[in-house]
Amino acid sequence: MPKPLLVTPITEERLVRILWDDDRVDDYPFDYLRGWCPCAVCQGHGGERRFVRVENPQLVSIGMVGNYALNPRWSDGHETGIYTFEYLRMLGEQRESHDQDQVKG
Ligand SMILES: [Zn+2]
Repeated sequence: MPKPLLVTPITEERLVRILWDDDRVDDYPFDYLRGWCPCAVCQGHGGERRFVRVENPQLVSIGMVGNYALNPRWSDGHETGIYTFEYLRMLGEQRESHDQDQVKG
């Protein structure tokens, strides 16, 4: 399983850039990352994973959880999302393979 080597929030571009240990680079716009928050508050119980639109989310900080996940903290105080590396990787690949306009809405 690939792991992030470097996690860089780029505030001016409103995205988080992840350099993976297999040399892949993924950009995660704040809206995209926040929208796919995997926590129970955002996702509810069961069913398909859903995108939760948040108006103009700002990243306050992003920390490591153990050696398996990242935990972003948002300007509205939301910080319950634990994004496993596997999930992040999936989000990166999903973003790459989809029309990005679909995500921006
Ligand atoms: Zn959440």
